[in-house]
Parts: sequence; C-alpha cells; structure tokens
Amino acid sequence: MSAVLSFPTAQDEIISYNPATREEFGRAGCASVEEVRAAVQKSRQAFEKWKETSFKERARFVMRAREIILDELDEIARLISDESGKPIAEALSMEIAPVLDLMQYFARNAAKILKPERINIGLYATMGRTSKIIYKPLGTVGIIPAWNYPFSIPLGEAVMALMAGNAVIVKPSELTPFIGLKIGEIFEKVGLPENVLQVVTGDGRTGAALVDAGIEKIMFTGSVATGKKIAESAAKHLTSVVLELGGKDPMIVFADANLKLAAQGAIWGAFCNSGQSCSSVERLYVEESVAEEFTELIVEKTKRLNQNSGDKETTDVAAMSSERQIKIVEDHIESFRNEGAKILTGGKRNANLKGAFYEPTVISNATNEMRGMREETFGPTLPIATFKAEQEAIDLANDSDFGLTASVWTGDLEKGRRVAEKILAGTVCVNEVLYTHGIGQTPWGGFKQSGYGRTHGRHGLMELVAPQHIHVNRALLAPNAWWLPYSPLAVETFRGFARHFAGGSLRQTIKLAPQLLKRIKELRGK
Ligand code: NAD
Repeated sequence: MSAVLSFPTAQDEIISYNPATREEFGRAGCASVEEVRAAVQKSRQAFEKWKETSFKERARFVMRAREIILDELDEIARLISDESGKPIAEALSMEIAPVLDLMQYFARNAAKILKPERINIGLYATMGRTSKIIYKPLGTVGIIPAWNYPFSIPLGEAVMALMAGNAVIVKPSELTPFIGLKIGEIFEKVGLPENVLQVVTGDGRTGAALVDAGIEKIMFTGSVATGKKIAESAAKHLTSVVLELGGKDPMIVFADANLKLAAQGAIWGAFCNSGQSCSSVERLYVEESVAEEFTELIVEKTKRLNQNSGDKETTDVAAMSSERQIKIVEDHIESFRNEGAKILTGGKRNANLKGAFYEPTVISNATNEMRGMREETFGPTLPIATFKAEQEAIDLANDSDFGLTASVWTGDLEKGRRVAEKILAGTVCVNEVLYTHGIGQTPWGGFKQSGYGRTHGRHGLMELVAPQHIHVNRALLAPNAWWLPYSPLAVETFRGFARHFAGGSLRQTIKLAPQLLKRIKELRGK
C-alpha cells in the first residue's frame, strides 16, 4: 500500500491570503486522493481524443487563450499581484508578457520542432533500410508549480504539454490557488474540450496524490526537499519527472565591467519579486580593486527603492509571499550577523507596512563559509564577497550545491564567455541576469541540486513527448545474414562484419559482398 493512501480523503479546504494585507483572499478546495484519481481518469479519456488533434487545432486554442489574457490583462495582473504579493509591474513584465510570448512561440513552432525526422543509419541504408523518428504525446502530464511565478510557470508548461498533444492536470501551490484556477478558466472560455486541462487545487497531499496516480509525466517546480520526495514516489510507477528546484545563483563582477550597469542589474536580480526567484542573485562576487566603489553604488541605489504593496504602480519591492518565507530571511540575516558579515542597509522587517515586508538588504564581508551563502534564502538579500583573480571567481561561484543560473559581468566579452563556460549552471549569462526564463525558445533547468530535465525551448518540448523509432526494410527478397541458424560460414561472415562493416566505410564493406552472398544463399536453403 502506498504512503499517500494514508492521507485524509475527506474534502478539505485551503485558505489563501493577500501577503500585503494579511487578509484572507479566498478559500479553495483541497482535493482528496479519490478526487485526484477521478481527475486522472477523466484526463485519460480526454487524452484519447486530444492526441488525435492537429497542431493547427491545438494552436488555435492556445492563440485564443492569449486573446483572453490580453482582454483581461489588468484584471489578471491584479489577481497575480494580490494573491502572490508581487508588484503589479512585475506581474506584467515577469509573468504575463513572457508567457504570452511563449504561447505564440509554441503555437507557431511546435509542429516544426516535433516534425518526424529521418535518421541517417549509415551502411544499413545500403541494405534497403530506412529509419525515422516520430514524436508521440505521453498521456497525462501533471504540473506541480511553486508559488513564486504562479501564472507563467504552470501556464507555460501547460501550453507546451497541450501543443505536444498531452492532457494536463495543474495542481497550483496552496499559497496561490486562485491564480491556478484562473488558468483553468481561461481555457474553459476558449472552449478547450472538457478535461483536456484540469486544475485541481490543494496542498502537498494533493500533489503527492497526483504523483502517486501513475500518470505519464510530472513537471515539478519547488524546493529540493519536495523534489526528492516526488522523485522517490514517481519511481514507484516509473513516472518520468522534470525537477526545477532551488538555486543559490552567483553573479561575478570583474573590475572592467560597466559598474553602474552591473549595480542596476544586481539590484534587479536580487530584489525583483522580493528575491523570490529561483534564479535570484543570492551571492555576489566583485573584484577586490572595485569592491568599495561597486558596493557604494549598490547601497545608494538600494536605499532609493520604494517598498510598498504590490497594487501600486510605483512599488519597486513588495511583500514576500508568506510568513514562513520571511522567517527564513530573518534567520539567514541573523546568521550573517553572527558570522561577521556587515549589514549595510535593510536587515529588518519594514515596520511601516502591515504585511510580510522585509527591507531590501545589502550585506558586505560575506564569505562562502557563511550559512547565508550556502543555503537558498529566497528573499530580498544581496550578500557581497570579493575575489582577486579570474580562477578564484570561478571556484567561488562553483563552490555550491546548486547550479541553476549564474552571471558574469565584464567589458571583455571573450573573458565573459570563457568564464561562463567554466561555471556549473544550467544557464550562464554574460552582462545579463535572471531573465532568460522569459525566453520561451531557450532551455531552462539546473545542474546539481537545482534539479534535472528541462522546460522551455526544444529541449523542454522533448520532455513532453516520447520519440518512437519507425524502421522499415524495403528489401523484401533476402533473409538477414545474422538470422538463425548459425554455421561456420555465419561466424566467418560476422568476423567480417566486425572488421569491415562496423568501421562505417563503404569501401571496406564491399570486400564482404562475396561472403555475404554465400551466407544469404546458405540461409535461403534452410
Ligand atoms: P515546495 O516544494 O514547498 O512546493 C512546491 C509545490 O509542491 C507546491 O505546489 C506544493 O503544494 C507541492 N508539494 C508539496 N509537497 C508535495 C509532495 N509531497 N508531493 C507532491 N507535491 C508536493 O516549494 P515552494 O516553497 O512552493 O517553492 C519555492 C522553491 O521553488 C524554491 O526552492 C525555488 O528555488 C523553487 N523554484 C524553482 C524554479 C526553477 O525553475 N528551478 C522556479 C521557481 C521556484
């Protein structure tokens, strides 16, 4: 009996709060194991028809869903801001605009990316064989996202899965169920056939039930701890999983960088979404010779940031998502203090605001030994350390359990590329930071504890299909030399295969022809 069966099966509910006001935002159902199973059953039936639709038909639904989002742009931005706490500016720039771009990209290009492919099979082709790959949808794809990009991550993954011909079940985070339900509502409005996309709200128990339902794929975004549990549970069914987990992303600033630009980049990279991005700048390494000047720039710009509730258009840094998250930040800042780092600005809750607001915080004298430089903080903190030489910067950046993204800032692009290639992270930017999740065309995913598998781009789409190899023998007259029964002539022919054919050279292989003919004649007689 699997562990999740011991979870309560009675209908429960989850309560969502506006983190800026701490007021209740709404209540949603917490789906039980039985309800999840029923959803999976309906999903399987819906898949049978959906998989037969053409790319054109699928694209029509996705493009219509885009139109609905555009029609309701401000209402959706406000919903994202109110339920997750983020500034309205970021709901638009970091969630809605990028996912609209992803939607048009996959609607227009999925057919091209998943087009059947002819494979060059080398010398086997001379025997009249052909091979091609077709890409088949998997079945039901379960999407279990975090709360930090509650609209763009599940919607983007759902669009990719749908375009590939799969049915989808989204289990939104328990902190942002209404944003998840909005995704379901959008597809309902465009008339997507029933149950092709379902949104099932609930907490970790609901997510666990989905993983334990034996569906074909899980796209998970969240913490390392939950990712490991999901991988373990999915293994029981051999369900394949993409794990998009945490990060502790480094930013390296060389003395020859445009320091003003790098400082602006660092502030956005560390403080946007209150630092609650998996690719936030969580460790900054600046070359010692410019460290003082650079740190002053950062502090001065940070002090000018406007912290307020996310619904205001002039808010730069808004509320954190939850009390649990703010406590992790307090704990890390406390340990920075105790371990000898200096808090240059911030370092406390914003006492003027009622909700979960933590001031943007800049820390100097940080070292890789400190806990706040090793564990994911996921808050508005920017710890700064220094380095003297290129190799030292690379070593410091790689000295981490995580490997999601990194950035290198320098005026010397060749040096930038050289350093980027030596950093163990799924994405490394040169003179850019954080934003490439917003490019639907490029793959997203991590190394080390940041997870495995990819979302977005061609690699991400390939996670949502199964390649099927179709092999055809057009030469219908002769048996294969390697078939039964064997004989001394067969063994001699196979020696020839090993010596000549397996070298891949046609000229060498021709030498085998007389022996091959004899062997085929031998088999024909049997
Ligand atoms: P979390 O692991 O607590 O929860 C993520 C999701 O998993 C939620 O929907 C939750 O209900 C569900 N869940 C919890 N327990 C489960 C279980 N046993 N089985 C199945 N589902 C379960 O993470 P969080 O606090 O929501 O998100 C923060 C984390 O997400 C951070 O570590 C952040 O770095 C990471 N993240 C990563 C990426 C990326 O692309 N790599 C993007 C965004 C966030």
